[in-house]
Amino acid sequence: MRIVIKLGTSTLAHATGRLNIRRIEHLCRVMSDLKNSGHEIILVSSGAIGMGVGKLGLGGRPDDIAAKQAAAAVGQCELMYVYDKLFTEYNHTVGQILITGLDIENGERRVNFENTLYKLLEFGALPIINENDTVSTDEIEIGDNDTLSAIVASSIGADLLIVLSDINGLYNKNPKTCPDAELIEVVKEITPEITALSDGKGVLGTGGMATKIKAAELATKSGCDMVIANGAEPELLYDIVEGKSVGTRFLKRDE
Ligand code: ADP
Repeated sequence: MRIVIKLGTSTLAHATGRLNIRRIEHLCRVMSDLKNSGHEIILVSSGAIGMGVGKLGLGGRPDDIAAKQAAAAVGQCELMYVYDKLFTEYNHTVGQILITGLDIENGERRVNFENTLYKLLEFGALPIINENDTVSTDEIEIGDNDTLSAIVASSIGADLLIVLSDINGLYNKNPKTCPDAELIEVVKEITPEITALSDGKGVLGTGGMATKIKAAELATKSGCDMVIANGAEPELLYDIVEGKSVGTRFLKRDE
């Protein structure tokens, strides 16, 4: 299977904003093993700004754009250094792709992006994709990596998109504020009722469920199942790939 895996900031970082080393080591081990078993893995990873903030000792996420972009420049290096180190331990080669909204909207640039991705897969490498936060501004940004991961999945005809977050899946209400919320295991169709379940943004100011449901719409329309699951348990990736019931699975639309 061709599998796109999206790791959110909440999965990669501690509440302090610094890297969750045990988590990322475990995830890279499981992803390496899945690759060894014959699956193609494409990683979409957030976390650059947070890691840059930590490394530069800024004390918190800056508000101004230039400082955020500088933090992303530092953090992206750190992030790729860690991925390269961990995947190399399991004899896998990584390749970094950084894009902005312009690369998706412009036909020629999109074809170049897709060709690079296909070539990396053909070479047996593991592509790691992020938005190029050092140059992205409101006007040209894709905006969130949930959307980016769905664009990637649809661009290269992935069979499965796995979005790992700090929550077990989509619930009938926000479990962080409603303890009696119930997990929705399967979504066959993204109706307005499903879209309305998203309640606010994530703790780190990320997209929350709204961007994930939008991503599910894009992925399922292009013939790709999408699963939202908890990144705190990397071993769940094995079960998800085997089609077992984990988190919330949005079923692809057959047309
Ligand atoms: P990530 O950084 O992994 O992309 P986010 O923090 O952006 O994750 O999104 C996950 C958050 O979305 C959850 O922690 C939860 O607070 C919030 N959320 C809002 N509505 C729901 C819902 N109906 N079901 C599950 N989570 C929800």
